[in-house]
Amino acid sequence: MKARRAHKIRQVRGGESLEGRLLIIDNASELLTLKGNNGRPRKGEGMKDLGSVQNGAVVIEDGRISKAGPKEEVLSDVDVEGAFVVDASGKLVMPGFVDPHTHLVFAGSRERELSWKIEGASYKDIAERGGGIVSTMKATREASHKYLFQLGIQRLDVMLRHGTTSLEIKSGYGLRTKDEIKILEVIKSLSEEHRTDISPTFLGAHAVPPEFKGNTDAYVDKVMKEMLPIVADEELADFCDVFCEKGYFDEDQSRRILDEGRTYGLIPKVHADELSDMRGAELAAEIGAISADHLEKSSDAGIGRMADRNVIGVLLPGTSFSTNLEYPNAKHIMDLGLPVALATDFNPNCWTKSMQFIVSLACYKMGMFPSEAIVASTINAAHAIGKASEVGSMETGKLGDVIVLNIENHEQIPYRFGFNHVETVIKAGEIVHG
Ligand SMILES: [Zn+2]
Repeated sequence: MKARRAHKIRQVRGGESLEGRLLIIDNASELLTLKGNNGRPRKGEGMKDLGSVQNGAVVIEDGRISKAGPKEEVLSDVDVEGAFVVDASGKLVMPGFVDPHTHLVFAGSRERELSWKIEGASYKDIAERGGGIVSTMKATREASHKYLFQLGIQRLDVMLRHGTTSLEIKSGYGLRTKDEIKILEVIKSLSEEHRTDISPTFLGAHAVPPEFKGNTDAYVDKVMKEMLPIVADEELADFCDVFCEKGYFDEDQSRRILDEGRTYGLIPKVHADELSDMRGAELAAEIGAISADHLEKSSDAGIGRMADRNVIGVLLPGTSFSTNLEYPNAKHIMDLGLPVALATDFNPNCWTKSMQFIVSLACYKMGMFPSEAIVASTINAAHAIGKASEVGSMETGKLGDVIVLNIENHEQIPYRFGFNHVETVIKAGEIVHG
């Protein structure tokens, strides 16, 4: 298994230096610590446990959480003099959002497909009319590293302003060796330059490119024998993902790619059962994937197997919204004992960068309570990318990733939907927005 890269505290981009000073966030009307559960993902009734405190405070020292809890306990023996204090009176304070599933590096834009969708076009119809993944692939192949990097920085800035302090980014719009590597190298550059923590995923098996039409096995071979060795050699990814779906990659092809990825130390993830039950959930359980994502059409047996093997279910309601598809039945999936996370799935077919919008969709469209949707967007999302020991909750020693929202309590995040409540973003103890 490849050694995980040490976390780097990066230079502030326009942030305020608090070198050597304590940072205190004081007087929060509600503070969500997300503490507890012994480092395990939350499931069942535990998904409602926000570690909520009225009139809370947080102390950050050297970029890391020193204390978080009721103000009178937290500040009783802290020397406030010389500290930088953020007054959060009347505001909600919580850990930064973790977005565990995005396709952030791509060129082009597909707004013309919206009218086609309104006319009733399916995924397949859109592909036949020249849209879909292949149209993004063409634009991304033509784009330079520099251009994709500039787009990436702008997108990460917007996400950071919306409270996302850690996220995952997949390749998958190159679909030939040099362009898959180019995308992963862009992700690496973004990770070095931007304050947001980025987990890179290799998704060479996102679709079968036109040059391999009708010959999926030959493309699978290319992914396994040509792309994976370079990805591993240049240490460009932590995870390997596959789009296991009819017309894309079947269960056996997906298993072969993920098994091969694992021999290089890449942890498996699966795009599972989005449009049809392809036994993606079962596959994720069998190979010990860290997460299986989508799960709209998974069987109860498959979800049960995932629960037995501690695979996180990442639900993507933004995709259901933008594609006019059925939403996953989150309540039922949670009742089956699966720990659930949420993600934007930001991509040209689902253009949202806001985890707050995803929390609203989860509540209004998937039957999740606000508390469950927030657990799914923070600590459980951190588990879905293997970062739960660093981010997702306010526990002593974790990174000081904290957001202040201009609302009084957590229920107002989904309830007041459609705009950004985040006022201040603190990344690793430094104020990077607000
Ligand atoms: Zn995806």
